[in-house]
Amino acid sequence: MKENDIQEDINILNELLDNEIVPRLHRRYKNALEEIIEEVNKNTCTYEQIEEDYNVWHCSKCKCDWCIEEGTPIDNNMNYCPECGARIREIIELEEEDE
Ligand SMILES: [Zn+2]
Repeated sequence: MKENDIQEDINILNELLDNEIVPRLHRRYKNALEEIIEEVNKNTCTYEQIEEDYNVWHCSKCKCDWCIEEGTPIDNNMNYCPECGARIREIIELEEEDE
């Protein structure tokens, strides 16, 4: 964070003490939070199991499908999508059918 940004925040906090600018402060922090979240999620993907018999997994980012012999991408040390290189942030396994 730049010195100026910190000073700006301090100014805003000082203003907050004098005036009612809570909505403005709230929006600034919300924006900052969204920026951080976007940065963190930029190059990540979710791998979702779409077929159980052939153990097919689908990348949310590049939409490619991968057949894995056994287990989840994580079980197979797949930390990144082999196709697009996005970090696999989450895996979603098919729900086991009870019937
Ligand atoms: Zn991918």
